[in-house]
Amino acid sequence: MGEAGKFMRYEVPTTTKDAVTLLAKTKGTAYVLAGGSDLLVRMKGGFIEPELIVDIKRIPAMQSIKKTATGFRIGAAVPCAAMGEDAALKKAWPGVVEAANLIGSDQIQSRCTVAGNLCNASPAADSVPALVAAGAKAAVVGPKGRRSIPVEKVVSGPGRTTLAKGEVIEAITLPLPKGKTGDAYLRFTPRTEMDIAVCSAAVRLTLGRGGVVEDARVALGAVAPTVVVVPAAAKAIIGTKLDDAALAALAKACEAACSPIDDKRGTVEFRTEVAGVLAKRAAKIAYQRAGG
Ligand SMILES: Cc1cc2nc3c(=O)[nH]c(=O)nc-3n(C[C@H](O)[C@H](O)[C@H](O)COP(=O)(O)OP(=O)(O)OC[C@H]3O[C@@H](n4cnc5c(N)ncnc54)[C@H](O)[C@@H]3O)c2cc1C
Repeated sequence: MGEAGKFMRYEVPTTTKDAVTLLAKTKGTAYVLAGGSDLLVRMKGGFIEPELIVDIKRIPAMQSIKKTATGFRIGAAVPCAAMGEDAALKKAWPGVVEAANLIGSDQIQSRCTVAGNLCNASPAADSVPALVAAGAKAAVVGPKGRRSIPVEKVVSGPGRTTLAKGEVIEAITLPLPKGKTGDAYLRFTPRTEMDIAVCSAAVRLTLGRGGVVEDARVALGAVAPTVVVVPAAAKAIIGTKLDDAALAALAKACEAACSPIDDKRGTVEFRTEVAGVLAKRAAKIAYQRAGG
């Protein structure tokens, strides 16, 4: 039964258009079902009672990872495990893939998707900081047509997105990395796996001549209601070879950008300090991956 004592409808469309029509026309609460690793847990816990579930896993446009002339297109139904098996994606964006492959366990990764990780809108979502640092976009389809928006514009707060009624993410797109580019993602968890990030950091950087950082993007997770992009941290390392002073300035900028919660998993002070440390470490890994 769904809300208001109605039976739950389960639909399995085979086109994005049909998925959008189903979601847009329903008067009750409707949810997209991708891997279900968040949605089913929330349903079982009694937190939500959808009247309509639209399963997107049978939509061919959402089922594959494609390398295009401009980058990569990861279909919204592609499980995170498949990202780790895509050699070209792994070579181009190792940080994004390592973030996706940190989610849960092998079992969870065989179901879950990065689009679902994004739309679940947890501040601690692992793949989101890495996607943001890499400049990923969400290909959104809705009743009014298509739009492509930066991933950081999808989440508006814990559990909330900017997607309008009827809108669905069809794919996540990543640009081709420019020249000597590297990325990395690190999180802190008390356990080695099956735990959510207490805080996390992702860095994407591009090197110019002589191993000097020419361009960078730094994003932090679990230190604010949504992922935080830290332009001051990127500025701190641009024009440097990632010497100690540059890394210290990057950490300081990250710390200044944090406004985390205080809970049993980590205090404000702990999360703030560790975010800076993780950003430094991620920057070093990204630098090495870029060939520096
Ligand atoms: C045991 C366990 C361990 C976990 N560990 C981690 C972890 O380490 N790190 C982490 O970040 N998360 C973790 N999670 C949470 C979860 O696995 C991830 O958030 C996952 O990426 C969600 O993807 P999904 O495809 O399963 O989403 P679903 O559960 O199918 O959907 C999640 C939400 O997004 C919406 N949605 C899904 N796809 C779309 C779309 N294409 N367009 C619009 N809306 C959409 C759904 O309606 C729903 O509201 C864990 C979960 C479990 C059960």
